[in-house]
Amino acid sequence: MKVTVLGANSAFSVGDFKDAVPVDKLQAMVPELTKKIGKSGWSTRKISNYLKSYFEEHKENLYSSAWQSNFLIEFDQRNIRGDKDSPFRLVLDFGSDVRHALASQGLDFKDIDAYYVSHPHDDHIGGVEGIALKTFFNPFFTRKKSNWLGGENIIDKITYKAARGQLYKVPKDAKPIMYGHRDILEALWKAAEPGLLTLQQVREVSLETYFNPMQMVENEPLTFKDKKRTWRAYIVLSMHVVSGDSTMPSYGLMFETEDTIVFFPTDTQFMVPPQLRGHYMKSDYIFHDTETSPFPSGVHTRLEELKTLPEDLKKKMILYHYDSTVVPDVEEGEFCDVAFSGSTYEF
Ligand SMILES: [Zn+2]
Repeated sequence: MKVTVLGANSAFSVGDFKDAVPVDKLQAMVPELTKKIGKSGWSTRKISNYLKSYFEEHKENLYSSAWQSNFLIEFDQRNIRGDKDSPFRLVLDFGSDVRHALASQGLDFKDIDAYYVSHPHDDHIGGVEGIALKTFFNPFFTRKKSNWLGGENIIDKITYKAARGQLYKVPKDAKPIMYGHRDILEALWKAAEPGLLTLQQVREVSLETYFNPMQMVENEPLTFKDKKRTWRAYIVLSMHVVSGDSTMPSYGLMFETEDTIVFFPTDTQFMVPPQLRGHYMKSDYIFHDTETSPFPSGVHTRLEELKTLPEDLKKKMILYHYDSTVVPDVEEGEFCDVAFSGSTYEF
């Protein structure tokens, strides 16, 4: 099981607009660069060093990526896309900028077999409409999908060709899987519905039109195969937001195999519910929500709180979901690791 941290930052961290390179500034850089490099007769190495220092100097104009929080989890089992050369790819949460997060790993929606959604905040589900529409209208998303379409447009296939009174549904193996707790999948559809409900000519559009929804239930794990091992993924409740009489749980995932347990509690308040302690104790690695913003939200675990944990628990924790401008200030060896966009872990 390979985990790649696509994004390690909190909700508001998608790279500030002011950080982007404005086209006019880029244009202004070009003549200067051309002049220096074009007639210089410099070696490739010298050009490369020059560019490095040039961009270092102008880095206030460069876009700094901060792709919220999302993970790519890969298993070497067969994928649903029918591509023998790539692993089964599961994306855990897909914030508003997940296409950029995926692009940073050279991937696109067409490369992803399954998604898991922990809770319905924008930085975890914001990208759903883009994922749904881009994969729905991609006739090559899976090999089985292209065969099923047989060169026809998907809209024609599911409307005009439908038997009278019957809907011609998109087959399961032509869509990405959407895993999640029942309540969260409902909330996901509620959030996505305004944009996804209407498809020209198509009746009865639902989450199932775009995804193969797989409702997860406590104590009934998903199973994944990797390097001859079986990983079971259990859904685990953590409490993210309590507002008057309403609550927003976040459902984490606990991956278990014979000798290793990897836990993603996802967004959670510190030790809410208190049973999290038991989960922490049994886990070997914990990817943990770590709020570092100077303005406490009350709905995330703060770095100061994590620091109060016993040493053996801290040493299992890989910190993420921190403010992009405030990287967790930890002592060497205090925690297992601080994750950055692009960090990878093999279990
Ligand atoms: Zn959240």
